[in-house]
Amino acid sequence: MYRRKAGRKPSPYLVSKLRRHEGLQQRCGPGTAAYREAAEQLRSGKNVGVIGSPDCKYLVSISYRGLGNRMLAAASAFLYAVLTDRVLLVDPSNEMGELFCEPFPGTTWLLPADFPLTSYTNFSADTAESYGNMLKKKVIGASSTRAEQLPPFAYIHLDHDYTDEDKLFFCDEDQRVLRDIRWLVMRTDNYIVPGLFLATGFQEELDMLFPEPDTVFHHLGRYLFHPNNHVWGLVTRYHDAYLAAANQRVGIQVRVFGNVPESPEVLEQITSCTQKEGLLPEVLAVGTATAPPTPGGKSIAVLVTSLKTWYYDKIKSMYWEHATATGEAVGVHQPSHEEHQQFGAKSHDAKAWAEIYLLSLTDVLVTTGWSTFGYVAQGLGGLTPLIMYKPDDNGSVVPDPPCSRDLSMEPCFHAPPYYDCRLKKGADTGKIVPHVQNCKDMSWGLKLAPRSAT
Ligand code: GDP
Repeated sequence: MYRRKAGRKPSPYLVSKLRRHEGLQQRCGPGTAAYREAAEQLRSGKNVGVIGSPDCKYLVSISYRGLGNRMLAAASAFLYAVLTDRVLLVDPSNEMGELFCEPFPGTTWLLPADFPLTSYTNFSADTAESYGNMLKKKVIGASSTRAEQLPPFAYIHLDHDYTDEDKLFFCDEDQRVLRDIRWLVMRTDNYIVPGLFLATGFQEELDMLFPEPDTVFHHLGRYLFHPNNHVWGLVTRYHDAYLAAANQRVGIQVRVFGNVPESPEVLEQITSCTQKEGLLPEVLAVGTATAPPTPGGKSIAVLVTSLKTWYYDKIKSMYWEHATATGEAVGVHQPSHEEHQQFGAKSHDAKAWAEIYLLSLTDVLVTTGWSTFGYVAQGLGGLTPLIMYKPDDNGSVVPDPPCSRDLSMEPCFHAPPYYDCRLKKGADTGKIVPHVQNCKDMSWGLKLAPRSAT
């Protein structure tokens, strides 16, 4: 009800699949006899009884890096779990156990503390049980079809440094091997969903689940991620105090990566983007005669989110010190300025989540390219953003154009495979399936596009 536009409708098939998946999570989740038995099996180091008994297989999703990354990883893991009938268990570290309500009724999605693989959060490209390493060492292969030939678990390493063998995860043949391994532990900080759309084995199901492929994160994100009561308080109090009364709400996400200094070029990029695209009015020179403003006239609330205050201060001063050419009143607001990205800090993450959510409540959105923080906001909001391109390396030139309408509201998969599984050779994966295209903000990334744009 806080959103002016309701968003896109999920397909009836997706809705019924989610209900069935909830049943699976309840039957097999923590606290059940099935979970105890599967955990025991993992502890014993054997992979018995999976083939022919497909119920109660598990996918553990490791949580690391920034909040946007963690949310994209959890949503990606969830889709993979739904496609492969696995129970999703989310690693509760890095506040993932504390910021959200439980998405599945009657059970928990959080990995229990007594999970047998005690060092799973340290799994890396070097872990012997990674799918890529097991392929390389021939511990496992396309001919591993009998239960006893399979390991009790496989670690799926899909981080930026993943190897060519790890990337075979996105191929049908490899999915057939993984299907019969009871426990999978996945590490990714990426939105791997466009990669799943490349695997032919998933295509029919994905088409039925998502007749509109540009809405995957929109639906899954809204299903999975609900702020807990504390964060919801941060969202609603801020919204009611600063955004609710405005006729138009404009979100501007200014992601400052690393220790870059305040940039007049980025400021100019923001103002020229918002003014050229008609989101914010132009301002008049000081002293220009203006018609007296009408009390109760049109108002715009601008929500700026950033680690720094400098951009907010400048935009706010501009609309205070100058009249707008249209006579509209422009109020500029920024909930927090945390200065630096922090890890493992509860109140920091709660603010980040509240700000992502607040951005998703705006009517129009401007985001910074490359940022998963903005991707989550646009997906939850159902907003195809104006995306500001990354300035060139020394940052001295304002990109021209400063921003443009993104291809879709979907997040970009930053580190996709460049491999055609059918041809078994390197390929431009943005050219294989019409609705999987290269991202505008990262030319090598992959993103789901609407069918009409293809
Ligand atoms: P990305 O690095 O831009 O892809 O986004 P992430 O969310 O994964 O990581 C950035 C992290 O930095 C966030 O999770 C926050 O902890 C912090 N951060 C970045 N921008 C903001 C902001 O505008 N507001 C707040 N509160 N935190 C931010």
